[in-house]
Amino acid sequence: MGPRVRFAPSPSGYLHIGGARTALFNWLWAKSQGGVFVVRIEDTDQDRSSLESVRAILDSLTWLGLDWQEGPEVGGPHGSYFQSERKPLYRESVEQLIRQGKAYRCYCTKEELDAQRAALKERDPKAQFVYPGTCRDRKDEPALPHVVRFKSPKQGSTDFVDKVFGEIRTPNEVQQDFVIVRTDGYPLYNLAAVVDDHAMGITLVARGRDHIGNTPQQVLLYQAFGWETPEFAHLPMMLSPKGDKLSKRHASVGVQDYRERGYTPMGVLNYLVRFGWSAGDQEIFARDELVRLFDWARVNRSDGKFDEKKFADVAFEHLKRPELTPLDEYARAVRPFLAARGLGDAPDSTLAAAIPTIRERARTLVEAAVALDYYFRDPPELDPQARAKVLVPAAAPLLATLAEICRGASDFGVQPLEEAVRVWTEREQIKMKDVAQPARVALTGRTASPGLFEVMVVLGRDRSVARLEAAAELARGSA
Ligand code: GLU
Repeated sequence: MGPRVRFAPSPSGYLHIGGARTALFNWLWAKSQGGVFVVRIEDTDQDRSSLESVRAILDSLTWLGLDWQEGPEVGGPHGSYFQSERKPLYRESVEQLIRQGKAYRCYCTKEELDAQRAALKERDPKAQFVYPGTCRDRKDEPALPHVVRFKSPKQGSTDFVDKVFGEIRTPNEVQQDFVIVRTDGYPLYNLAAVVDDHAMGITLVARGRDHIGNTPQQVLLYQAFGWETPEFAHLPMMLSPKGDKLSKRHASVGVQDYRERGYTPMGVLNYLVRFGWSAGDQEIFARDELVRLFDWARVNRSDGKFDEKKFADVAFEHLKRPELTPLDEYARAVRPFLAARGLGDAPDSTLAAAIPTIRERARTLVEAAVALDYYFRDPPELDPQARAKVLVPAAAPLLATLAEICRGASDFGVQPLEEAVRVWTEREQIKMKDVAQPARVALTGRTASPGLFEVMVVLGRDRSVARLEAAAELARGSA
């Protein structure tokens, strides 16, 4: 049986690119080992969770192609995959620990604990307050307001072997009796995560290094329940360019932002995978290559710094290379960006012919839609400066003749058109550039475009002729 791994986002916003990196590593491991990738929504903090956020996170995962075999929308044998719907299970588990004397109700009020903390601070400003265990042996009175605390052992150590960080040993004397259920009855993260990871049969927990400090408490809980501890892998962090926590202040951190910016899913994943994982000097990977190459031995401990420029370069590389973004995928991906420009009904065949002409220069799908615009807009949007500078009376007869050549060409292909124009310009001793520039403005509305004859062939004979004639008319009238 392959591994069972999970991604467990708290739905309090969009999918952060750091979260996407964690999801990716889990997904890759499941995919490469014939395992199961589970998605679980950790929404016990009702104040911070929202359904919109769940939607946004699932949409981003789907867009990235990180499909899950169990979780929201697809279901599975261990549902519900929303923690807010699993409260009876947490309650039962906690009751079991209390009955066995491994956890206890604590009636200390916040005010009492604050006063103790303040008194300690007065005595020793540097000391760390540790709950003194006041209620450890107090009479149990479930009717009174209380939290539930875990009875941490005081001797020995809690150990686990992390697949990335190696052996982690934590002396139990530093472990306080941590809270596992809040006064309002809601379970806290460590408890809910352990109960669920066990119930869902998770065999490997892979998550950001920021959770490594929670792991000893989770290991203590597994031991208290008498459950087998899963394997753990903590992943290095994605930091800001300055080396602090990466946040909105430094860069766009939502997967959605990159989708809107016109990056492809693999452009995003390829950049993210390099945070913690590498395969020699290779920079660019196809999805199946990642699945083939991914393993924990290649995951390293060094945090990485987010580099927006590098990200853009990787994303461009994916967009540019047909072996990474095949034509049909490119066409599908660019359609929404065309639609946003009012070009939603671009014909498939024209789009397929047009994409290769702009691929080399469009760094994002947003730029691609701009570059493709004139293929689908009739008449093309005419740059006023180009018009004033290039569509002058002297250009009119040249454009008219070019329209004639197009109309008469027996074969409307790049080479025959090029040849016909060459014969004409040589005979009449016209400089090619004197024809090319007005023709470019006529056909595309711009002074920069792919090769003239490529553009003509994509537009087809009728539209090319119509645009050249319309431009000849404008040029004539501009005197
Ligand atoms: N809900 C936690 C988070 O979003 C999950 C941590 C874990 O994977 O255990 O950080």
